[in-house]
Amino acid sequence: MKIGNPPESERMVRLKIKIHCTECGKRVPGGVQTGEEYGRSLEFQKDVKRLKENYLCGICRDKKRVQK
Ligand SMILES: [Zn+2]
Repeated sequence: MKIGNPPESERMVRLKIKIHCTECGKRVPGGVQTGEEYGRSLEFQKDVKRLKENYLCGICRDKKRVQK
């Protein structure tokens, strides 16, 4: 899964950040990717924080959609 909005030209790196679904606790499949430079920015830290608090896996997202 890609995090944030790194510029197109930036090399993508894979990061060892564990993000879990806030509903079922399942881990994000395939880990997290972002731009090499962007990954060091403060903006990226905010993106990760936001994601950790709000992330839903595909299954839980589907469930929520059905309930509405
Ligand atoms: Zn889930």
